[in-house]
Amino acid sequence: MNIFEKDQTYVASTYGRNPVALVSGKGALLRDVNGKEYIDLGSGIAVNTFGAADDEWVSAVTAQLNSLQHISNLYYTSPCAQLAEMLCQRTGMKKVFFSNSGAESNECAIKAARRYACLKHGDMEHSRIITLKNSFHGRTITTLAATGQDSFHTDFGPFPEGFAYASPTDASEIRALAANGDCTAVMMEMIQGEGGVYPLEPDFVNEVVSIAREYDLLIIVDEVQTGNGRTGRLYAYMDYGFQPDIVTTAKGIGGGLPIGVTMLGEKVKDVFTPGTHGSTFGGNPVACAGAVSILSRLDNALLADVRAKHDYIVSELSGAKGVKGIYGKGLMLGIETDKPAKEVIAQCMEKGVLVLSAKTRVRLLPPLNIDMELLKKAIAVLKDVLAC
Ligand code: PLP
Repeated sequence: MNIFEKDQTYVASTYGRNPVALVSGKGALLRDVNGKEYIDLGSGIAVNTFGAADDEWVSAVTAQLNSLQHISNLYYTSPCAQLAEMLCQRTGMKKVFFSNSGAESNECAIKAARRYACLKHGDMEHSRIITLKNSFHGRTITTLAATGQDSFHTDFGPFPEGFAYASPTDASEIRALAANGDCTAVMMEMIQGEGGVYPLEPDFVNEVVSIAREYDLLIIVDEVQTGNGRTGRLYAYMDYGFQPDIVTTAKGIGGGLPIGVTMLGEKVKDVFTPGTHGSTFGGNPVACAGAVSILSRLDNALLADVRAKHDYIVSELSGAKGVKGIYGKGLMLGIETDKPAKEVIAQCMEKGVLVLSAKTRVRLLPPLNIDMELLKKAIAVLKDVLAC
């Protein structure tokens, strides 16, 4: 059996894979089993922040691998403490819980918000969490319940209670839910990624923040996809001028290794006590050493470069043939196209460029440090595909 046959026979059929088997890469260039090269505009879905086999990340990870790969959360390790300190210093958050994925980082946020409500009210009647319609928060049963898209719920019930879905454009629905008095938090992505790359409007967010302050709702921001420089800010909420109570992230902070991060602000920093939450691999020193190397390079110059690359892509594609609209920030872009996104993906792949989709839109999530010449080449290919 070849790779495709073996995978189709033995791997659970949860993914619609493309007919390409990738073996290696450097930066934004990937190579398949036949030696064909691709320019990567997907970064493993916003994970490979500095592309494939990035030298600094590889050496941080291998140095840690060669000294200690894992030791459990019964003991201290330096990369875990160092990463938590860096995250708190750069966000103003107070404490960090580490896990292994975006879904788990949201599970932790949900547990923190519920425990905050229970400790405050002395009961479990005030623990509801408002999430937004068209949101995506993960694939575990509870984060699926938090996800405000019916299509993800089909066939997987019963779901845990305690979520209410509100409009991502009209804050009056959130106000009405908050006024019921049984909610503890509102949870949102600043750009709905899996929902099709829909940025929240600043006026909407301002209104949500003022409702949250009025009713003492915690603000949970899911930065699993938008975080770690992806939108041209360290975290996307930083564009909106408020301080969240909980921030979750994963994907790009790991640079290619699994890690989940839940940052806890002043109100919830002590909500967990020993035994109330945990994870065998959370805070793994290898993943954390890699993340320290990623985070230390997300400086102002890099973020400005991300915004400049955004401007380049938008200037190339706006008004181009076959393009109906471009959405998103930084290097997280959704393109509404005349052609179905699936066709665009297949034709770009044929011509050596990997792009993604999000609902009806073509989605671009290139490595943040993609070489400008490669980016130009890839956008020229995409333009050609969209035009014919
Ligand atoms: N939250 C958001 C906003 C996401 O985009 C994703 C994944 O795409 C998740 C949560 C789930 O992350 P993971 O697949 O790492 O569990």
